[in-house]
Amino acid sequence: MRILIADKFQEAYLEDLNSLGHDVVLNPDLKAEELVKKIVGYDVLIVRSTKVKADVIVASDKLSLIIRAGAGVNTIDVEAAADKGVFVCNTPGKNSVAVAELAFGLMLSLDRKIADCTRDLKDKVWNKKKYSKADGILGKTLGIIGFGEIGIAFADRAKAFGMKVLAYDPIAEQKKTFKIERRIDDRLFAFCPSIEELVKASDVVTIHVPSNPHTKGMVDKEFLKHMKPNSILLNTSRGDIVDDKALIKAMDEKNIMVGLDVYNDECATATGKFETPLSMHPNVYGTHHIGASTEQAQNAIAAEVIEILKEYEKGIVLHPVNMEMEPVVKYTIIMRVFDHVGVLASVLLLLKEQGVNLQEMEGRVFSTKNAQQIILHVNKCPDDETIAKIREVDNIIQIDVKSSVE
Ligand code: NAD
Repeated sequence: MRILIADKFQEAYLEDLNSLGHDVVLNPDLKAEELVKKIVGYDVLIVRSTKVKADVIVASDKLSLIIRAGAGVNTIDVEAAADKGVFVCNTPGKNSVAVAELAFGLMLSLDRKIADCTRDLKDKVWNKKKYSKADGILGKTLGIIGFGEIGIAFADRAKAFGMKVLAYDPIAEQKKTFKIERRIDDRLFAFCPSIEELVKASDVVTIHVPSNPHTKGMVDKEFLKHMKPNSILLNTSRGDIVDDKALIKAMDEKNIMVGLDVYNDECATATGKFETPLSMHPNVYGTHHIGASTEQAQNAIAAEVIEILKEYEKGIVLHPVNMEMEPVVKYTIIMRVFDHVGVLASVLLLLKEQGVNLQEMEGRVFSTKNAQQIILHVNKCPDDETIAKIREVDNIIQIDVKSSVE
C-alpha cells in the first residue's frame, strides 16, 4: 500500500510502521489545502489535525482508508468518504486518560488556587492568609456531561478522591455499558435525567461531549443560571460548547471558577498570541489545548494506527466511523452448499435477474471443507419462482429465506 502521513507521527513508532513493508511518505508540514494535489496514488491517508475536506476525497484515485490519529473526526468529511466507499477510522479511547488527567489537574488547581499561589511565589509574595481558604474536594458532587471514554476516565479518578458522581448522557445511560457497572460504585454514582438537575446538584461540572450542532453553546445563560455560586466548571472538550459572554457574566456574578483547555477562536498554529475576554478573566485557569498531548497518549495512538494498518492488510477495518450501524438488511438467505466453484455465482445471477440486491455476505466452511454455510443479506425478498430456481442449482443442499424486519 502507498501510505501518506500528512501530520507528525511519533518518531519511536516510525520504524514499526516502516517494518510493515509499505511505501510510507511522511509529510508533516503538508497543509490541508495542498492535500488535494498530493492525494493521487495513495491508498491510505493518516492525519492528526490536518483537515480532510470533500475535495481531497473526490480528487483521490486509489484512496480506501483515512486514519484519524485521535478520537474526534470533525476535521474529516466522513460523509464524502462514505459516498466514495472510503473507510474513515479513528483511535478511540487512546487519549482519554491524558485528557481526564488534565481536567482533574485543573479541578484540583482551581480548588487550591495553585496557579495563583505559584504566580505570587514568583513575584516574591508570601500569602498563606489568602490561600488557606480552600474547601477541599472530598465528598463533593461532580457532574459529568458526556459519559464516554474521557467522562468515565474522569469518574474513575473522582472515585479515588471520594467524590459523588452524577452523569448526564442519555445515550451512555441507555447502552448501560459493563464499564459503568463494573468501574463505578453504585452508591456514589447516578445518571441524571436532565442537565438542569445535574448542574443544580454539582459542586464541579465537567464537560466531555463532542462538538456538534446539538452541543454548540450548551453552556449558555440557562445552563449557568443553575450552577451553584463558587462552583467549578471544566471544559476540555471543544471551545464552541461554551457561550463566552454568558460564562464571563456568571463568573462575575456568582464567582464560578473555570478550568479550560479549549476556547472559541483558538490559535490555529502551535504558537502565537492569544487573548480573549474569557481567557483573560481572573477566574479562569487555562491550558493551551494540550489535553491529548502527552507522550503516553501519542504513543498509544501511534501503536493503534499501526494495529489498524495490520488488520486492514487482512481486510479487517478497526474503528470505522462512517459505516451504517443500524442493520440495513431486510431479508436473509441462508444456504448450505457443497464447496464447488460457481455455486454462489449462479445464485447471485438468479437474484440479479429479479433485481434483488446483495448488501452483506457471511460464509463458514464445515470442518472437512466439503460444504459451506453462506448467508446473504439482501434488500428484497426473492419470489417463490426464484427460490425454486435456486433450489435447482447444482450443489445447493438447502436454502431458507428469513425476513429481518419483524
Ligand atoms: P466519546 O465519544 O467516548 O464520549 C462522548 C460522549 O458524549 C458519548 O458517550 C455521547 O453519548 C455523549 N454525548 C454526545 N452528545 C451529548 C449530549 N448532547 N449530552 C450529553 N452527552 C452527550 O468521546 P471522548 O473520547 O470521551 O471525547 C469527548 C470529547 O473530548 C471529544 O469529542 C473531543 O471534542 C474532546 N477531546 C478533547 C481533547 C483535548 O485535547 N482537550 C482531546 C480529545 C478529545
